Amino acid sequence: MLCEDVLERLSAFLDDEVDPLGSREIQQHLDACTSCTDALGRMRGLAERLRAEAPYYPAPDSLRVRVSQAAWSDASRGRIPGRRLAVAARGWLGAAAAVVVVLGGTWLVTSLQREEGSRLIEREVVSSHIRSLMASHLTDVASTDQHTVKPWFNGKLDFSPPVTDLSASGYPLIGGRLDYLRGRPVAALVYQHRKHFINVFAWPDDGDSDSEAPLRTQQGYHVIHETHGGMTYWIVSDLNSEELSTLARLLVTGGTKGSGVP
Ligand SMILES: [Zn+2]
Repeated sequence: MLCEDVLERLSAFLDDEVDPLGSREIQQHLDACTSCTDALGRMRGLAERLRAEAPYYPAPDSLRVRVSQAAWSDASRGRIPGRRLAVAARGWLGAAAAVVVVLGGTWLVTSLQREEGSRLIEREVVSSHIRSLMASHLTDVASTDQHTVKPWFNGKLDFSPPVTDLSASGYPLIGGRLDYLRGRPVAALVYQHRKHFINVFAWPDDGDSDSEAPLRTQQGYHVIHETHGGMTYWIVSDLNSEELSTLARLLVTGGTKGSGVP
């Protein structure tokens, strides 16, 4: 069973909705595949977080007061008989509960949309990585010199990507390339580790917080997404997960010797 088949059915598996045979196949795959096990863990975590953290927004006191005043004044004018006041109050509580459900639902949808958006970019960066290797169009500027690669992007992008040579750590820079992702031109920096090529896609990030998403696997390639210093990075390669994670950390620290060109 392939990872993509497993990932497709993971949600149903988590909900116990897969037939016994399929469920056994998925379990066998999970026993041997850390990437799919991680995905299952994340999915389970999201479900638990939803149960625990879906926000509850109490109505503001001013609204509470206005509604109860209106109800009481209607009641005192005889528009709402006493017994119906209780019904009206229950209706108001029901409406408040509905608001909570709607807000919780919005939060859920936003989380899922963010998750899905992330998956779409992931598929794009993997396709781009594969294309760069297939079309022998790995680099537009082939150079191990960060002082050559960085200025090459001048005038080609509306930002200047940080370019760091990591050859001292075993990840020599071999060049750069213009690429097009998420409807915008982005920088692709190409590194090599032993015989493996690594594409590092970089573009400015709107958010102000640094983050690193867990490594994921797509079509046999490993993908790491991290955000730091106002830039978002997508790192993709067939390199093993440990060594790719090492490169991701080196990019954050600017290499062991701090030789980054900021
Ligand atoms: Zn798998």
